[in-house]
Amino acid sequence: MDTEIVLEARGVEKTYPNGTHALDRADVTIHRGEFVSLLGPSGCGKSTLLKMFAGLEQPSAGTIHAKEEKDSADSRFMSMVFQEATLMPWARVNENVRLPLDLQGMPKAQSQARIDESLAMVGLSQFARAYPRELSGGMQMRASIARALATRPSVLLMDEPFGALDEFTRNRLDSDLHVLWTQRGFTVVFVTHSIYEAVFLSSRVVMMAARPGRVIADVRIDGPQVRGEDFRVSTQFIDYCRVLSEHLARANRGEREALN
Ligand code: ADP
Repeated sequence: MDTEIVLEARGVEKTYPNGTHALDRADVTIHRGEFVSLLGPSGCGKSTLLKMFAGLEQPSAGTIHAKEEKDSADSRFMSMVFQEATLMPWARVNENVRLPLDLQGMPKAQSQARIDESLAMVGLSQFARAYPRELSGGMQMRASIARALATRPSVLLMDEPFGALDEFTRNRLDSDLHVLWTQRGFTVVFVTHSIYEAVFLSSRVVMMAARPGRVIADVRIDGPQVRGEDFRVSTQFIDYCRVLSEHLARANRGEREALN
């Protein structure tokens, strides 16, 4: 594994202005090329931590360090994908994907090649001229991922991107995302509350618990390089799911004992 650190949270705390203590002293390090899932139940601070990595929220204490990598004319350091596809409904798929390139000031001749490349990566080449309303939820999310990839980011931050999709569509998108990651070699930080999804996708899972939000385990997933349906039903997969569930159960027991 590459040991170069691209993102690092050290002793990071977050208390929102309304007094919610969302995150308690989190230490999380992301290395180049990793696929790291932030996994845990609702309210454990996963999105808060991701937003701090993205620079959208500031820690109340501690530090977030991003590798000194500047956006260039050709590529961006980070891109983010949200749970909602957030496509412009009045614009065609290719125009939606073009948006970050226009914002970057990329000439049209160059951006067209990028759009074609990004849509091919997510399997949407045939739908370049469709409007978002003509696409299924899964395809809209593919378009959203294409838009994020168009700037060739080194780091892709994904906040429960497939959380609103049905299980079959989600599994399909998980498989395709994993293939993309192995082929393109970018770094991914992925928020999910699904143990199965985290194990399927990740090279490492950062397990979190709530009240207060905190990191309770950091588990390396030594799954196969190519992960297909057979991995989902393998003993290795089930063993990782069990290990992660046990970490959460232990943390929850600890909480109850502390309350008693
Ligand atoms: P997760 O992504 O694990 O569901 P979040 O990071 O969204 O958790 O939220 C962690 C805690 O912080 C929750 O209790 C949530 O209600 C609270 N929270 C999140 N964003 C805000 C905000 N902008 N203002 C106040 N509280 C917030």
